[in-house]
Amino acid sequence: APQQPPPRGREKILVTVRVRPLSSREIAQRDPSAWDCIDFKSVVFKVSHPDRSPQTKSYKFDRVFGPDSVTNAVYEEGAKDVALSALKGLNATIFAYGQTSSGKTFTMRGIVENAIRDIYSFIEQQRDRNFILKVSALEIYNEIVKDLLVADGGPLRLLDDPEKGTVVEKLTEDTVKDIDHLKRILSNVEAHRQVGETMLNEASSRSHQIIRLTVENFPQKLTEEPAVVNSLVATLNFVDLAGSERASQTLAEGNRLKEGSHINRSLLTLTTIIRKLSSQVKGKSVHLPYRDSKLTRILQNSLGGNARTAIICTMSPAYSHVEQSRNTLFFATQAK
Ligand code: ADP
Ligand code: MG
Repeated sequence: APQQPPPRGREKILVTVRVRPLSSREIAQRDPSAWDCIDFKSVVFKVSHPDRSPQTKSYKFDRVFGPDSVTNAVYEEGAKDVALSALKGLNATIFAYGQTSSGKTFTMRGIVENAIRDIYSFIEQQRDRNFILKVSALEIYNEIVKDLLVADGGPLRLLDDPEKGTVVEKLTEDTVKDIDHLKRILSNVEAHRQVGETMLNEASSRSHQIIRLTVENFPQKLTEEPAVVNSLVATLNFVDLAGSERASQTLAEGNRLKEGSHINRSLLTLTTIIRKLSSQVKGKSVHLPYRDSKLTRILQNSLGGNARTAIICTMSPAYSHVEQSRNTLFFATQAK
């Protein structure tokens, strides 16, 4: 297919909500589900619950996935279009947002699996263009950036490149040979993450993980024009965010800012930018504070502008988590 130039103007952020099943622990503790998922589009606080809160309301989204949903469906409707836009030269980011234990990592693993399968089946069907895929992976913990492609990756610096924007200095980038090679690389990333998690208390609730694919494609037959003119490069980011309880203090309506140690700078800056992008009036410029955190500096070229964004908000159904779930739904409402 002929390559289209990227469309101009702000793209709407695709926001979906996924409610995971009750865990066996929640069931054992008689911690019931507090939410109903209705018509694939709404999450409603259960009216039947004895402690029914006066704040009961229905939250509506592009798509809501209930406890019986499978990740493949979440991918198809909540991430696929955004992921595949990288094949057309558009930068894209898919986020998993939600409190710790709500299902971010579970969901994001399945999203990545589905996306790389589709990317490779697309590439194999292309007769007239060649594709080069590169992969990198990093973690941001307390505003310190680490390489997840290598074991024991030391702290990495961010540099401002006049052409590329913010780059992570010395970040490993592997050129992918085929899908099995990519799967092996990603399983190493998992292993490096897990090493980190046992060494650092609560690491997964505080850290952000990014898997980044760079997709370059160019015509197979070179015409008189140099190939570089007709080549397209795009970045596709899969971001498993720190637990949203690290930012929710300031998101909840009426809540005061609590102690600074619980606040995650990258997460707060990201949510601020997403809120501003969503409420931005077309054609009107607004200050987006990308430079305020490592996460948003790294993602700057893949967030806002022509970039495509999907956010999958995950939540626990349990009654004991209602306050955090409300915060997540509130964020999701602001993002759409
Ligand atoms: P988070 O990354 O948000 O902290 P996890 O993805 O680790 O949460 O999920 C917490 C637990 O719940 C894990 O044991 C995970 O396997 C399970 N889980 C999460 N989402 C689902 C789901 N949709 N279906 C079944 N189990 C799930
Ligand atoms: Mg996790």
